[in-house]
Amino acid sequence: MSDAILNKMTFHIITLFPEMFDSYIKGSILGRAIEDKKIKIKFYNPRDFTKDRHRRIDRKPYGGGPGMVIEAMPVIKAIEKAKSKKKVKIIFLSPSGAQFDNNYAKKTAKNYSDIIIICGRYEGIDARVKKAFKMEDVSIGNYVLTGGELPAMAIIDCVSRQIEGVLGDFSSLEDSRVASSEVYTRPEIFEYKGKKYKVPKILLSGDHKKIEEWKRRKS
Ligand code: SAH
Repeated sequence: MSDAILNKMTFHIITLFPEMFDSYIKGSILGRAIEDKKIKIKFYNPRDFTKDRHRRIDRKPYGGGPGMVIEAMPVIKAIEKAKSKKKVKIIFLSPSGAQFDNNYAKKTAKNYSDIIIICGRYEGIDARVKKAFKMEDVSIGNYVLTGGELPAMAIIDCVSRQIEGVLGDFSSLEDSRVASSEVYTRPEIFEYKGKKYKVPKILLSGDHKKIEEWKRRKS
C-alpha cells in the first residue's frame, strides 16, 4: 500500500554557515535518519575554496547597488567537489525560483541519490555559477530571507520524509493515507478556565470508516 522509496539520499550543502544546521539536523527524526544511515548531509564552505589570504568571498556588485555578492569561483569549486561523478540534482536557492512543494520533494527523492543545495547570503551569488552547471532555481516561498540555510533545511527535512525508513512507520507519510491537520491525544476531556474541552466523539467510536470520513473532511 505504501509507495516506499528505497533509495538513500546524500545532501551536499554549499554554505558559508554550516554550523547553522547543527541543532536542527541532529535532533528528532532527521538525527535518527542520519544515525541509521538513511540520509547523509555533507557541507562545503566556499571560503575553503578561495585563494584569498583572508578567505574573503564577498565583493561589491558590478553596476552598483547595496549589499555584497558572493564570488562565483569559490562556489563553482565547492560544487565540483560535491559533484564527483554521480547523478546529482543541483538546486540554486532563490526567492524568485520555482516554488518547492511536496511533489517536488517526492520526485527528487525518487530520481536522485544526491542533491547539491547552494545557499546564498547577502545579495546572492554571482549569476555565472548558474551557467557553469545545469541547475534549478528553487524558492521555498514568496518572501525573502537573509540566507539559503533555512530554505535548505526545509528541503532536507521534506525530501528526507520521502525516504523509506526515515519516518518510523512509512504510512506516516501523508500521501499514503488520509491525514487530518486536526489531531487529538490524552486526556479525553480537560478543563481550562471553567470550560470543558472534549475530543470529538467520532474519534472514540472505533468506527474506522466513519473516522476516515471525518479525517477527510478535516484535511
Ligand atoms: N536580493 C536577492 C535576495 C537575496 S536573499 C534577490 O532579490 O534575489 C539571500 C539569499 O537567501 C538568496 O541568495 C537565497 O539563497 C536565499 N533565500 C532568501 N529567500 C529565499 C526563499 N524564499 N527561498 C529560497 N531561498 C531564499
